[in-house]
Amino acid sequence: MGNAVVKSYCEGIRIMPNQKAVVLLSGGMDSATLLYYLLDQKWDVHALSVHYGQRHSRELIAATDIARAANIQHEIVDLRHIKRLLKGSSQTDDVPVPEGHYEDPSMKVTVVPNRNMILLSLAAAMAIGIGAKTVAYAAHAGDHAIYPDCRPEFVGAMRTVMELCHYDGGVELRAPFLHLSKATIVKTGLRLKVPYESTYTCYSGRERPDGTCGTCVERLEAFKLAGATDPVEYEAKETK
Ligand SMILES: [Zn+2]
Repeated sequence: MGNAVVKSYCEGIRIMPNQKAVVLLSGGMDSATLLYYLLDQKWDVHALSVHYGQRHSRELIAATDIARAANIQHEIVDLRHIKRLLKGSSQTDDVPVPEGHYEDPSMKVTVVPNRNMILLSLAAAMAIGIGAKTVAYAAHAGDHAIYPDCRPEFVGAMRTVMELCHYDGGVELRAPFLHLSKATIVKTGLRLKVPYESTYTCYSGRERPDGTCGTCVERLEAFKLAGATDPVEYEAKETK
């Protein structure tokens, strides 16, 4: 599928007041921003979070806090047993979490095998169950270097599959941040008053983020580029 086609599928979200959408809410800053973005567009948002045995399950507490603050319906599904199948990733297996830049090739070890297809499948099923026609997820341009299941080609292909997964056109997949940088997401979120202090991004899963893993580095960089300060308290003081 050509990029132009994928782009037209995914850019922007039409304003359809009170239409139901399921958003995959990880507890991180991208999906929290997406949630507020959809609410700002007057969507009737229902959130889904999944415990798949991730090291950073601390993010599920963050997801709960974010959904509560936004006063929306939130499902957390416990699928910890599938961790047995998700081998080779630092996030689900006994593999050290790498430090360094988010786009460094060493970060490939943080890829959870086929995670987003699994999560999007569940979101599609939930959407059908509650009569929603749309699933939204927060893949963005910064993810493309390392994460195959965040790339435009993947999103376009999943969109096709999800349209075919049920009667009457199935479910529409939207990824409005697909071509945006994380700094632009931060700027958007600050405008929408996303409670970034409640979000959790770190791969370590420790109570306080370390400020040194790839995703912490990326987050801090995004705030800096956006000309803002990350309100989250970090373990390490020598953060970039
Ligand atoms: Zn970290």
